[in-house]
Amino acid sequence: MNSCLILGGGINGLLSALMLRQAGLEVHVLERGATGRESSWAGAGILSLLLPWDYGPEVNALARRGRALWPGWAEHLLTASGIDPEYLPSGMAVLDVERRENALAWCGEQDEAVAQLPFTFARIAETAANVIWLPDVAQARNPRVMQALRVTALRAGVVLHEHTPATRLLTIGPKVTGVETPNGLFSADSVVVTAGAWTGGLLAELGNAPEIAPVRGQIVLFKAAPGLFPCVVYRRGHYLVPRADGHILVGSTLEEVGFDQSTTAQARAELLDFAYGVLPALRQAEIVTQWAGLRPGSPGNVPTIDRHPALENLYVNSGHFRYGVTMAPAAGEVLLQRMLGTAALVDVAPYAWKPGSPVGWVER
Ligand SMILES: Cc1cc2nc3c(=O)[nH]c(=O)nc-3n(C[C@H](O)[C@H](O)[C@H](O)COP(=O)(O)OP(=O)(O)OC[C@H]3O[C@@H](n4cnc5c(N)ncnc54)[C@H](O)[C@@H]3O)c2cc1C
Repeated sequence: MNSCLILGGGINGLLSALMLRQAGLEVHVLERGATGRESSWAGAGILSLLLPWDYGPEVNALARRGRALWPGWAEHLLTASGIDPEYLPSGMAVLDVERRENALAWCGEQDEAVAQLPFTFARIAETAANVIWLPDVAQARNPRVMQALRVTALRAGVVLHEHTPATRLLTIGPKVTGVETPNGLFSADSVVVTAGAWTGGLLAELGNAPEIAPVRGQIVLFKAAPGLFPCVVYRRGHYLVPRADGHILVGSTLEEVGFDQSTTAQARAELLDFAYGVLPALRQAEIVTQWAGLRPGSPGNVPTIDRHPALENLYVNSGHFRYGVTMAPAAGEVLLQRMLGTAALVDVAPYAWKPGSPVGWVER
């Protein structure tokens, strides 16, 4: 295999492209709009499962491997592009943990580091019951990650075709022979679909599309003085993420509304209610903006990273749902294992292609 076409330029498309290029392939990325502007731009950049004890081993395995690889990737992206992805091992405080003893026991069994909070939450103290402090959780700043990744991929020789949507995959027998776009026909030895929430629609015509559907998430952005609080704070489904320059993300909603990317007053009220309840000082901070993104939702949050059951040169790396940034470096390793037979430190079997029903998941 000498050449590869990647369909979709989010974090999983661009990182897969870069890794395949570094493995010696000629790689072209077809991106419908501009690269890195969908879910990968919209996410909060927490590099961890929110409550790791709530997930199965296959989700934890990819997230942990991703976490372990992120410091090296952040360094590489910074050096190669000159753009700082703002990787920050800030830790995460989980407040009001239900069944705290069980969660602590899970952390002990799984070697998930837990420690005493190294500081007091002066402003958060009133609501801070049953806390678990996870010191190894880090964060990165999504728009910067994507800018750094784009430049790094280009400098490594990946060819980007932005504003070039894949409209149809052409097949002869067990092979994809070409990808139609408004800008002409593209072909390569292999094709990888990394189209995030739009993956099911792109594959629907071929049959066997994995079950991947959009799940909207909204975030409200504040600007406060830098250093208001030092770490990611999670409480009952919502979180605060402080950036080094004083921006604070408040997230997020989980909404099954198809491909509707609008923001809503209801989500804003939900997020502000949470934020002011946990950190009353935010009432004095400026609200900068609100946005929405579409996660590639999948059953059990288990992505599909595998070859198509019938088409021998078609692969997918999608369905990372809530943790696509955390998982991306590990998902890339699994993809390379599937495509090139290189080593992956996680067992690749759980991410096998499980055909779902494309009905109702196609963008119209
Ligand atoms: C509000 C929110 C908060 C989140 N927080 C976190 C977090 O803290 N930590 C974490 O790890 N994850 C988080 N996530 C999830 C994470 O952002 C996603 O799992 C991840 O970005 C998915 O990346 P992707 O590359 O698969 O998809 P995307 O980033 O959506 O990229 C897919 C790309 O494919 C392109 N495309 C679609 N159709 C076509 C086509 N026909 N032809 C060509 N290109 C096409 C799209 O334009 C897009 O650029 C969050 C997501 C949201 C929305």
